[in-house]
Amino acid sequence: MATVQLKALSKVYGTTVRAVDSVDLSISDGEFIVLVGPSGCGKSTTLRMIAGLEDISSGTISIGDRIVNDVAPKDRNIAMVFQNYALYPHLNVRQNLSFGLERRRTFKSRWRGIWDSAYRARRHAEHLAIRARVDAAARTLSIEQLLHRPPRELSGGQRQRVAVGRALVRDPAVFLFDEPLSNLDALLRGEMRTELRILHRSLRATMVYVTHDQEEAMSLADRMVVMKDGVVQQIGSPTEIYERPANRFVAGFIGTPPMNMFDGRLSRKSDGTFSFRWNQSEFSLTETQWDAAALSAIGEKAVTMGVRPDRLKIMPAGDTQGAATITGTIATIERYGPLADIVTQVSAMRVTTRTATDSLGPLHEGDTIHLRLETNSAHLFREDGKAVTASKR
Ligand code: ADP
Ligand code: MG
Repeated sequence: MATVQLKALSKVYGTTVRAVDSVDLSISDGEFIVLVGPSGCGKSTTLRMIAGLEDISSGTISIGDRIVNDVAPKDRNIAMVFQNYALYPHLNVRQNLSFGLERRRTFKSRWRGIWDSAYRARRHAEHLAIRARVDAAARTLSIEQLLHRPPRELSGGQRQRVAVGRALVRDPAVFLFDEPLSNLDALLRGEMRTELRILHRSLRATMVYVTHDQEEAMSLADRMVVMKDGVVQQIGSPTEIYERPANRFVAGFIGTPPMNMFDGRLSRKSDGTFSFRWNQSEFSLTETQWDAAALSAIGEKAVTMGVRPDRLKIMPAGDTQGAATITGTIATIERYGPLADIVTQVSAMRVTTRTATDSLGPLHEGDTIHLRLETNSAHLFREDGKAVTASKR
């Protein structure tokens, strides 16, 4: 097992494309790290540089206490699992699993074994050791009963398991995964996530996992690294990132359905406190929630208030309790068993509310709805996107 350290790691393609821009990341021994971000943000390039499959433009990569910038991929003690698992079609599962180990054998020659009995004995011992490692990996992944089958007789999930098995038999210090579940259907993806988490817990191996799917990232990661345009936006546990997104991009990217973003203005009231103005409504910002100094520093500027869909509360018609509300027309109601998403058209904006289906009551598409925006559970972003720190949440 090993730590992985990236220091000011960059990759420039040609002269202009900064695919990875000065990434600093310190991965602990045994940690499950997920790099997540939209397509093209530099996740694969980062992973491929760790693997040694891609040259580094600048910066350093260390695995354990060794800088590996100039170490060949095969000598880095890592194993990588790709999205298209590319099993050898003419080999059965056992042969696919042992292929890499067979190629690295010390006592390879069958011919020499014929006339050199000491060599033959060691060759046989090596053969048994490889068999044992393949058997152990097959047991871990519950594919023992598939060992004699060719890949074409396997389901997508089974193939993916064999691909993970190929990494497992090598017993690497670091596992690298590049969107390994993207080719599977949603149900299977969910199952494989659970299996990967369990596998990680039993191996306690260092794992670096790349995905564009933020839900997958949330469900797998000890810590996530959110990237955009080659730049790290935030590093933290799924809970930290969900509850305290560092900027508007992270806030909008993480969470389902996405956070509602109200683009409005900060305004100073006559008593010196601040309020948020949006669409002719005014929402008080309490100083117990928002750092007064931070609000003063912004002044009367454009800001964005972000509210997660489950934080908007439906107000009973005719009872808005004098609170500042958002009023609109229900465009759609989508029911997902116990939960329902209501999309409300409010002037030019679509506002999503997530609620318990039970609490929908008599609401229908086309009805007028009043939503309560609680600034206490909202996020505030400056015009440059940076989150205003909440003193309490
Ligand atoms: P991700 O895996 O996050 O989708 P990549 O790391 O594959 O993103 O790509 C990051 C950026 O680098 C993209 O803009 C992509 O077009 C560019 N890129 C990737 N590989 C190459 C290459 N071989 N030559 C030039 N540009 C590349
Ligand atoms: Mg990629």
